[in-house]
Amino acid sequence: APPAEKFEYQAEVNRLMDLIVHSLYSNKEVFLRELVSNASDALDKLRYLSVTDPDLLKDGPELDIRIQTDKDNGIITITDSGIGMTRQELVDSLGTIASSGTAKFLKTLKESQEANVDSNLIGQFGVGFYSAFLVSDKVAVSTKSPKSEKQYVWEAEAESNSYTIREEKDPEKLIPRGTRLTLYLKRDDKGFAHPERIQKLLKNYSQFVSFPIYTWQEKGFTKEVEVDEDPAEVKTEDDGETKKEVKKKTKTVVEKYWDWELTNETQPIWLRTPKEVSTEEYNEFYKKTFNEYLDPLASSHFTTEGEVEFRSILYVPATKKEDITDRKTKNIRLYVKRVFISDDFDGELFPRYLSFVKGVVDSNDLPLNVSREILQESRIVRIMRKRLVRKAFDMILGISCSENRDEYEAFWENYGKFLKLGCMEDKENHKRIAPLLRFFSSQSNEELISLDEYVENMKPEQKSIYYIAGDSLSSAKNTPFLEKLNEMDYEVLLLIDPMDEVSLTNLNSYKDKSFVDISKEDLDLGNKNEEREKELKQEYSQTCDWIKKRLGERVARVDVSNRLSSSPCVLVAAKFGWSANMERLMRAQSI
Ligand code: ADP
Ligand code: MG
Repeated sequence: APPAEKFEYQAEVNRLMDLIVHSLYSNKEVFLRELVSNASDALDKLRYLSVTDPDLLKDGPELDIRIQTDKDNGIITITDSGIGMTRQELVDSLGTIASSGTAKFLKTLKESQEANVDSNLIGQFGVGFYSAFLVSDKVAVSTKSPKSEKQYVWEAEAESNSYTIREEKDPEKLIPRGTRLTLYLKRDDKGFAHPERIQKLLKNYSQFVSFPIYTWQEKGFTKEVEVDEDPAEVKTEDDGETKKEVKKKTKTVVEKYWDWELTNETQPIWLRTPKEVSTEEYNEFYKKTFNEYLDPLASSHFTTEGEVEFRSILYVPATKKEDITDRKTKNIRLYVKRVFISDDFDGELFPRYLSFVKGVVDSNDLPLNVSREILQESRIVRIMRKRLVRKAFDMILGISCSENRDEYEAFWENYGKFLKLGCMEDKENHKRIAPLLRFFSSQSNEELISLDEYVENMKPEQKSIYYIAGDSLSSAKNTPFLEKLNEMDYEVLLLIDPMDEVSLTNLNSYKDKSFVDISKEDLDLGNKNEEREKELKQEYSQTCDWIKKRLGERVARVDVSNRLSSSPCVLVAAKFGWSANMERLMRAQSI
C-alpha cells in the first residue's frame, strides 16, 4: 500500500489549532454539537442528491448517526452514513477554513484583543470540525464517498502543523458509505467517553437533528432463574417471630448487554402542534439552527392549508444585521416534504428588505429537485412568499404591541432601516410597514413615536402630518421653521436619518393624512389672515425687492411670510423641488 501522505495546514488553520489547543478551556463540550452537525449536514447532502440519483443509496438505505464510547480507553467514535469525502475533498475540507462560522470566529478574535480570548466565543460561532481538538490528542477521520472506490483516513495530532492521509486497508474498518470520526481523548477529557455523559450532551445539543442518533448503551433486563437455595430464617411482619421458611427456588437476575439506543427526537419541531412547543424549544431550535447565541426577539409558527400547503417557523433575531444590501444571508432554510433543500433561496421566498427575518419553511407542494429557476417561475412560491411576508409583519407588529417598550426599541435600533427600505421597495405592503415606523418628534425628548401616536396627538383642526428633516436632532429642533408650529402646539416629526424623508415621501400619506414638509413654501397652517397679509405684502414689497436684488440668483423669490414668530427670516424650498435635506443627500450620494 502507498504510505500515508503528509500535508501542511493552511496558515489560518494553524492559528486556530493553536488557540483551540492552548487557550480554550471552557465550553469544550461544543465539540459534540459541531461534529454531530457535520454528520447531519453530510446526511442532508446525501438525502438531497439521492432524490435525483437513487443509486447513491445502494450501499445502504439507512441514514443515521451512531456514537460509540470506550470509557476505558477514552475513545469516542461518531459514524454517519452520509455523503462521505473523496481524497481530494478531505484535503479541501479538513486543512482549510471551510466554515463561515469559523471564519467569523477568527475575525472576531482579530478585532478583539487577542490577549483576552473569550472561550464563550467558541460557543457563539463554533469552530466546526477543528473543535474535535478541544478534547482530543489525536483525531482520525475515515471516510468513504459514493464517488470513490476507496476509503481514506485523515489523521492528525493536536500538537502538530500537519496531517496525513492514507488509504484504509484494514477490512475490519471498512464502512459502506459515510464517515467515521475517532477521537482519542486527552487525559483530562476522558470523562466524555462515558455513554451517559454523551447521551446527556446529545439531549441538550442535538434534539433537533432530523436523523436518528443512536448511542451504544449498556442495557439490562430482568429474568427469573432457577436456583438451589437453603431455607432461610425470616422475620414475619406481624408478630416479629422468627420461623423457617422454604423459599421458592427461583431468583431474579439482571442480564446485561450492550445495544444501540435512539437518543434524539427526530420529528422536526415545525411538524409539531404549536400549542405543544414551548418558547424554550423554539429558542433552542433557533440557536442551534442558525448558529446564534442570543434568544430571538420573537417567533411565529404557523401552517397554511388550502391552495398551497406549507409549514414554517419564523424568527426575528436579536442581533444586529449591518449590511442592508447583503443578499447571501442564508436566513431561510427551505425543506420539501422534510428534506432539506437549500438555504440559498431566501431571495425568492422573502423580499430583500425582510432578509433579517430567519426561519424554516417546509412545503409539500414543491418538487424535491426544486431549483432557483423553478422557484422564480412558480405560482406556488409567489403565494408562499405573500403569506410569509404577512406572517413576518404580524410577528413584528407583535413586538411593537409588547408592554415593554424597550423590546420594540431594540428591534427598531437593529432593523429600522430595513423597514424604511421596505417603504421604497414594497408599495403593496405600505399599510403593514407604516404603523411600524418610528420617528423623533418636536414634542418628545429622545423618545421615538409611531405615526399612530402622532395622529392621536393631532389638533382637531389639523389636517396634515408635519415633518422637518435635519442632519441632527438639535439642528432639527432649533430650526426657525418650527416656531409657528410650536406656538400652535402642532407636533412635528423630526427626520434625522437620511432614509426617513425618502420613506415618508414614498408612503405619501398615513390614514388619509398627507405628509407635509414644513420647510417648503406655501405651507398652509390654516391660520391665514388674507387682509392682514395683503397689507404686510404691500408694506414690505420694496424691502423684498431690495433683498432679492442683493441676493440675485441665489434665491428664486423673496416673500413676506406668516410662518415665523421670532426669527426675522427663513430659507424655504420650492414646493415641487427637493427639500434642503434631500439636496444634501443627493449631493452626498446618488440614490
Ligand atoms: P462547515 O460544517 O461549516 O462547513 P466544518 O469545519 O464543520 O465547517 O467542516 C468542514 C467541512 O468538512 C464541511 O463543510 C464538509 O465538507 C466536511 N465534513 C466535515 N465533517 C464531515 C462528515 N461527517 N461527512 C462529510 N463531510 C464532512
Ligand atoms: Mg460544521
